[in-house]
Formats: sequence, C-alpha cells, structure tokens
Amino acid sequence: MTPFETIKLYDTDGHLSRFFAKVISCDKKDDFYEVVLDKTAFFPEGGGQEADTGKIGEAKVSDVQINENVIIHKTDIPLEIGIEYDCEIEYDVRFRRMQNHTGEHIVSGLVHKYFGYDNTGFHMGHDDITVDFNGMLTESDIRKIELLANKAVFENKAVSSYYPDEDELSSLEYRSKKEIVGRVRIVNIDGYDSCACCAPHVSRTGEVGIIKLLDFEKNKGGIRIHMLCGFDALEDYERRYDLMANSAKSLSIGQMQLGDAIVRLGEEISALKQKNYELREELYIYKMEKIEHTEGNICIFEENIRPSDMRNLMNGALEKCGGISAVFCGSDENGYTFFAASKNIKMREQSVDMQEKLGAKCGGSDEMIQGSIFADKKTIKKYFGVL
Ligand SMILES: [Zn+2]
Repeated sequence: MTPFETIKLYDTDGHLSRFFAKVISCDKKDDFYEVVLDKTAFFPEGGGQEADTGKIGEAKVSDVQINENVIIHKTDIPLEIGIEYDCEIEYDVRFRRMQNHTGEHIVSGLVHKYFGYDNTGFHMGHDDITVDFNGMLTESDIRKIELLANKAVFENKAVSSYYPDEDELSSLEYRSKKEIVGRVRIVNIDGYDSCACCAPHVSRTGEVGIIKLLDFEKNKGGIRIHMLCGFDALEDYERRYDLMANSAKSLSIGQMQLGDAIVRLGEEISALKQKNYELREELYIYKMEKIEHTEGNICIFEENIRPSDMRNLMNGALEKCGGISAVFCGSDENGYTFFAASKNIKMREQSVDMQEKLGAKCGGSDEMIQGSIFADKKTIKKYFGVL
C-alpha cells in the first residue's frame, strides 16, 4: 500500500484560494491542533517561502508544514474527522509571495544565463526578499539584470509547472539549489528560466508587476541582492516617494534638488560646528574672566558642556582659588558628571570623602578627580561651602 499523501492543489493552480477538503486526521498538540486534509491549497513553509495562513471552516490556520508529503495545518480549534470543510487561504498575502517568488526565478534565471552564477540562498523576509549568488556583480550588472527582468514581465510569458518523468528529467537543463530526492517539480518561465521548485507561482510573468533590485552586499564570496516585486515594490515606492516629497517640502525645494541640498546642508553643518566651537571657546574665556578670586572653593554648574570644555573651565578657575575648583555638568533630575582639581588639597582623599558624603562615584590622581554624582545642586554647593 502506498503511504498517504496530501493532494497539493497549489501545485497546479497558484491562484486557487477557496476549496473544499475532507479532514483525514486531527490531533491535539499543546494548545493547538494538527489537521491533515485529503487535499489542500495551503502551501507549507519551504524553499524560502513562508507557509500560507487562512481558515478551515471556523478554525484559524496559523502555520502549515510538510512531512513526507503529508501536509499538516496548525489550527486553533479541533475539526471533525471525515467532514468536508470550506477552506480559504489568505490570498492577498499568497499573491504577494507568488509575485516575489516568480520575480526571484526570473532574476536568478537571468543571472545564471548572463553570468553563470548559481542562486545559493533565497529568503522572503517581512521588509524585502534576499537572493544570494556565488559570484560578484557590479552595480551596472545589477541594473542590466533589473532591466531584462522587467522586460520579461512586460513580455507576459507563461509560467508553468510539472513533474517530468526520470528520462525527461535527465535530459532537462534546469537550476536547482540542492540534490532533490523523490519527484522533482519543474517551474518553467517560457524563454527565461527552468528551476526545481516546490512553491506556487503566478501563471504569467505580467502578474509579477515591477521587479526592483534594491541594495546589494558581498556575501560569502558572492553577492546578496535585496529585491521586491509587484505590490510590495509599489508599497516600497510609495514609502520612498512620500519620504522624498516630505523631505523636499520641509526644505522648500523640488524633489530632484534633494541630493544637492543634502551636500549643501552637510557643508553648512560643518561650518556651523566650527563656528560653534570658536564661540564656545570665547564664551569660556569670558566665563573664566568673570570668576572672582577666592581662598575657598569654586563650583561651576553647566547644563550642556563638553568634557574638554569642563576641564578647561576647571583649570581656568583653579588659577583663581585657594581650594578646590570643580565643574559640574547635568541637572538635579539626571545627576551630574564632574571634574575637580586642587593645588594644595589631595584630591584622591577628597574623592573618598565625596563618595562617603555625597554618594559620588569618582576617582583620579592627587591633583585631579572626575566622576558622577546623584545629588542636587544645593547639596553639592553646601558640601563645597559655596552657598
Ligand atoms: Zn522557487
């Protein structure tokens, strides 16, 4: 007796979304059920494509797997064995996946034809799909493949699938990622590609819609290409268009002027940073001039100051005091970082005292310490006697 095999309705019709099928078995597993049907249009995860989701009667199908040609549907509620149910897959999601998958076959077929590279990896993610090849392509190679792939779409070529017998298979030239055991299903794109694949595909290349090759990067001695097809590519275009339109609007320029505007903005930012640096230098010189001589301590509080400026300010104030010169940066809410120095007080001992009395975390040399402190300004000033 030949073992039971689920009839794969998606094998011959990728567009079939609604069908009736009989429940062969239903087993409880943890908090879900594993349902086997006599036939199914639900594609089980495989070949880089995710499993279909949908409904069998009132049961929600959240995952589909295949084991030795038996397709197992993961459902939230049990189903009655022997009963025929009205089943429906989430076709919008499936159609997008078919657009991307058939698009990937077109691109992989073209890369193989023009550059001789094999597709060594394929993954359909949530943001894009990635295709790996075992050889390098330049940007102009990629643009050439993209153009040819879109021509294949506009030519609206037939996409068909079939299981050739062993004799026919041995005489066929087709792409395959690995040695396949058992029957080999060939997906053929008229004039463009022939590839061993288990997944559902669109019927004609025109259904794929636009094929857009996005980013690419080196990967294991070859190249990884990110791409999108059809509705996913359209959504991506919409997002990018909105981004460009809004960016251009915020700068009150045309979209095509964005490139020049960004270069100009970068130059302006560099010039402003330099000017800002010079102004800060001047500001701290004024601040230091304003500090009055004292035999006691000096505490300076700033909200936003770079560590290098804190040290400069501390050194400037050190010349005007007989005790400790300390500069704090921060706020009562978020705490302070600080630098402190003295010419006649051993700062290492002072840091131990500050740890005990102010809960400071600090360390350094006998001349200078630095650290952080979670005390309010008033408490710190009181500690240093500068209220
Ligand atoms: Zn495939």
